[in-house]
Amino acid sequence: MPLPPPADAYTPLEELLAGLVQLAEEHADVVTVEEVGQTVRGHPILAFHVAPTGDERSDMLVFAGIHAYEWIGVQTADRFLRDLVVAPPEHVAVTVIPALNVDGRLASEAAVRQGRWRDYYRANADGVDLNRDFPVNHEPVGLWSHVLPGYAASSPEPLSQPESRALDALADRERYDRAVSLHSYGGFLYYPWTGTWERPPDWRTFAELGRAMEAAQGGHAYKPRQLSRWGFFFRAHGSEIDHLYGTYGTTAFLIELTRSGVRPWHAADLRTPFRWYDPEDPDPHVERGVRALHALVLAP
Ligand SMILES: [Zn+2]
Repeated sequence: MPLPPPADAYTPLEELLAGLVQLAEEHADVVTVEEVGQTVRGHPILAFHVAPTGDERSDMLVFAGIHAYEWIGVQTADRFLRDLVVAPPEHVAVTVIPALNVDGRLASEAAVRQGRWRDYYRANADGVDLNRDFPVNHEPVGLWSHVLPGYAASSPEPLSQPESRALDALADRERYDRAVSLHSYGGFLYYPWTGTWERPPDWRTFAELGRAMEAAQGGHAYKPRQLSRWGFFFRAHGSEIDHLYGTYGTTAFLIELTRSGVRPWHAADLRTPFRWYDPEDPDPHVERGVRALHALVLAP
């Protein structure tokens, strides 16, 4: 059997969360931890709330790990939160959820550890893709219900899973001004709508904020795109960002980090889901994502 891909550059989730909880205890004046829900298997879903140094003028939510194998997003959320604890924004309150689909992530870690690295992990423990479990634009309409039926599939009913309900309840309570859901791979800054071709009413705002995130990254930056308009066959029905924007008015982005972690000259990587999403050296990709997030915090 070929060797498994190196995965030790990524922090195991339980270790990562324990480190953040300890950090929060050491900086209790800056950050508070809240259990905002539990997964199918009863794992806590943790949110870290960072208070601004001055008066609060707006707030922002950053969350990662909706898809099990997208470890790079979790690693990016961890670094971003650690930055904020050292240097909190002056007027922006920020909430970070490092991993929403805790069960899926832990299952994917076990697979990699045990050498079952060709197994595919994306959904939560109930087998539902949380990125398709939200109410807005949940149902494929017209042409889209007939072509690519498998691809266009959404979950049985919106908010069917405890993980999506936890995110929704927090978003409903806080009514965040801005939000980012961290995914991989692709190298784009997507904004709504993801489930319909229509332009969102605030598309100019999205494009402007997207350009601010693009400019902060340096060379070969990820570019802003309305997801449904990027590829003709590309639709995501019931996505978290359509819901946050359509239901709560949150200016919500979905960042597809990296342009894939498949290494040149490693043919086996093409059959290794972990490697599709997670590069061998996460650091430059984390750095790029964190720069984009800070730019969104600072953008007027
Ligand atoms: Zn994803």
